Amino acid sequence: MSETVIVWFRQDLRLDDNPALLAASAQGNTVLPVFIFDKSERPLGAAAAWWRLQSLHKLNHQLTAKGAPLLTFEGDPLAVLQNLSQQTGATAIYWNRQYDPHAVARDTKIKDRLKPGIACESFNGALLFEPWEIKNKSGLPFKVFTPFWRNCVNEHRPAEPIAAPARLQGGDFQSGTLNHVSLDSLKAALPPQADLIEAQWTPGEQAALARLGAFIGGGLDGYADARDFPAQAVTSRLSPYLRWGEISPRRIRAAINAAKADNSISDKGAEKFMSELGWREFSYHLLFNTPTLPTDNLQPAFNAFPWQHDTAGLSAWQKGETGYPLVDAGMRELRRTGYMHNRVRMVTGSFLIKHLLIDWREGEKWFWDFLLDADPANNAASWQWVAGCGADAAPFFRIFNPILQGEKFDGKGEYVKTYIPELAALQGKQIFSPWALKKDVVSSTDFVLGRDYPAPIVEHEYARKRALDAFQQIRN
Ligand code: FAD
Repeated sequence: MSETVIVWFRQDLRLDDNPALLAASAQGNTVLPVFIFDKSERPLGAAAAWWRLQSLHKLNHQLTAKGAPLLTFEGDPLAVLQNLSQQTGATAIYWNRQYDPHAVARDTKIKDRLKPGIACESFNGALLFEPWEIKNKSGLPFKVFTPFWRNCVNEHRPAEPIAAPARLQGGDFQSGTLNHVSLDSLKAALPPQADLIEAQWTPGEQAALARLGAFIGGGLDGYADARDFPAQAVTSRLSPYLRWGEISPRRIRAAINAAKADNSISDKGAEKFMSELGWREFSYHLLFNTPTLPTDNLQPAFNAFPWQHDTAGLSAWQKGETGYPLVDAGMRELRRTGYMHNRVRMVTGSFLIKHLLIDWREGEKWFWDFLLDADPANNAASWQWVAGCGADAAPFFRIFNPILQGEKFDGKGEYVKTYIPELAALQGKQIFSPWALKKDVVSSTDFVLGRDYPAPIVEHEYARKRALDAFQQIRN
């Protein structure tokens, strides 16, 4: 017998490979797709809020075309879902799982409160492998990436992606009741510095699939060799789409396997790329199994680390005015585009933590506020990795030299000049240490340190030694 089923969309803003939606629409059920702006969740930065609103508009168009428009509400999800099911006679609520501690606690409470009258069912729409499925030989969660990913690849097989329902049977809903809010009434303004976001990004499921197709036909082959070079732009840039579930990792995996099968891509590029998706899986594995990941050092020894309260240093880092061009280009890229290349995320993160001795949580917060892909698992796990206090982290004593990183990964300074045009007059390696310029190399009218670009806020060798001394304190 057909029933009315609510599908609660959260971070799965797509129709393709959406198990909750497909299950709800089976057997001719009436489907009520719902999104709830839940104020109790960690507030999004302006860029991510803009992305989500654009994606919701796209999702609504797709759902409407299939026959069941998206209903949007704000408030406490339990109250909204309870009221909505009473009003519409819905007998079940389906959703795809989230794995952060706030969502896990909220969803568990909702299931408990709504049972037995309303059947609540959750599905895996976000990951290749459930975090509780992957265990080491002692039956415990993995703490090191390589054996984790080997276990995933060798011992488990993700489900194949499922197609979107052909059409949906929508239900009646009286707007003007409950905490209904119309999408058209919502505005999400981008800050003025974010002048390149709209030019560079198109949110939504169609754009995600197009980007995947373009990546497989373009960057993927060179990915393994070129992914560390920010000016080459070979990486997929799928991260905001994955963050909001506009594409599923199962769909990505299936598309890559299909391209491998017809020999249109190299195994090397495909494997490297899949292992990066593996880092996403690992980050979720860590978050689910250690819910304090976003707030507490995974290695408790770091609780005694002598962090500095350097407000001037923090502000210079945030604005991209540290005097180290690769660091500053990255921080300016972040503000202007809502994105930062992975290599540069590592260098800027390392600079904050090791050159300025500022707590990684300040960096995590800043990235959360500015990234389009700000992700509860990837962001926290990556910051702990950079700080050396995480699982399988880069050792603290390995301190990136921001000058050499620039010379190695942006040899011609193309990336740096894109975001710091003030350095356009500088050539080759000079660009990464503008304080050391010889007078005869650049005319003093073209470039003046302190006028066109700041002098370094801290000297590299001094900072390196200070960081090692600080680390020695917690080692002792
Ligand atoms: P690709 O190289 O094309 O990789 C494909 C996908 O794999 C990415 O979209 C992402 O989902 C995943 N991935 C790649 N690298 C990593 C990684 N190191 N850890 C986890 N997943 C990864 N990624 C986020 O999605 N959200 C964040 O908030 C985030 N914060 C970060 C903070 C720091 C300090 C660092 C060092 C890294 C962070 N990353 C984060 C990881 C990584 O930088 C981005 O996923 C990547 O740059 C996104 O670009 P892409 O989609 O072109 O990546």
